[in-house]
Amino acid sequence: MILDFIYPPVCGFCNKINKETLCKKCENKLANEQNVKIEKFKNYEFQEQIYFFPYEGFVRNAILQYKFRNKVYLYKSFVKFMIKNQNFMKFLKTYDIIIPVPISKKRKKKRGYNQSLLIAKGIANLYNKNKNHILKVESKCLYKTIDTIEQSKLNKEQRNANVQGVYDLKNGQILENKRILLIDDIYTTGNTIKECSQMIKKAKPKKIGVLTIAKDFVD
Ligand SMILES: [Zn+2]
Repeated sequence: MILDFIYPPVCGFCNKINKETLCKKCENKLANEQNVKIEKFKNYEFQEQIYFFPYEGFVRNAILQYKFRNKVYLYKSFVKFMIKNQNFMKFLKTYDIIIPVPISKKRKKKRGYNQSLLIAKGIANLYNKNKNHILKVESKCLYKTIDTIEQSKLNKEQRNANVQGVYDLKNGQILENKRILLIDDIYTTGNTIKECSQMIKKAKPKKIGVLTIAKDFVD
C-alpha cells in the first residue's frame, strides 16, 4: 500500500520522532487507561468480544484524530501497544481469519482509507511474525452495498435502521468452519457489528469474535 511509504517515523500519539511508532511516555499513558476485557456470549450474534480501552479521554481523542483528521499512521501506534499484551496474543491464536468492518466505496474515497482494515492488517503483520500460527486478513468477503450516514451522527433508534441490510457477503465458502474475528475501531451501540456478524453467520463459520480498540459505555 502506497501509504506505508509516507508514514513518518514518529509516535502517533505525541508526534515525537520514534522509530517504534510508540514512545515510552505514551505507552505508559495507554497502560493507565487500558482495561482489557474478554466477554463471552451465548445465543448471540457473536460468541466473544475483546476491547482494550473505555472510549474516553486520551484514547477517544486519538481515535477521532485517526478517523476524521487523517492521522492515518496512528493505527500503527495502537497496534504496537495491543500486540504487547500476552492475553491478547493468546486470544488471537484462537482465530483463523480477520475481517475488518467494511466502509462504503464513497466513504473510502472521502477518507482515503478504511480505518478497520488498517488495524486488521497491522495486527496480522505483527502477530504473524511469530510464525507458529498465521492469521489471514479477508477484506473482500464482507462488503458494504450502499453509503450510509456516519453512525456517530445519529441517535440510538436511527443507528439500528441505518445499518440494516447494508452489508453483503461474497465467496462466503472460504469462511465456512473457520474462526472469524471481526474488527472495528470502536464498539458503541453494536448495531454495525451485529449486522456484520449476522452476514458472516450465513457462511457457517465455527465461531465469531469481535475486537475493537475501545468500547463506548455511554448509551
Ligand atoms: Zn508518544
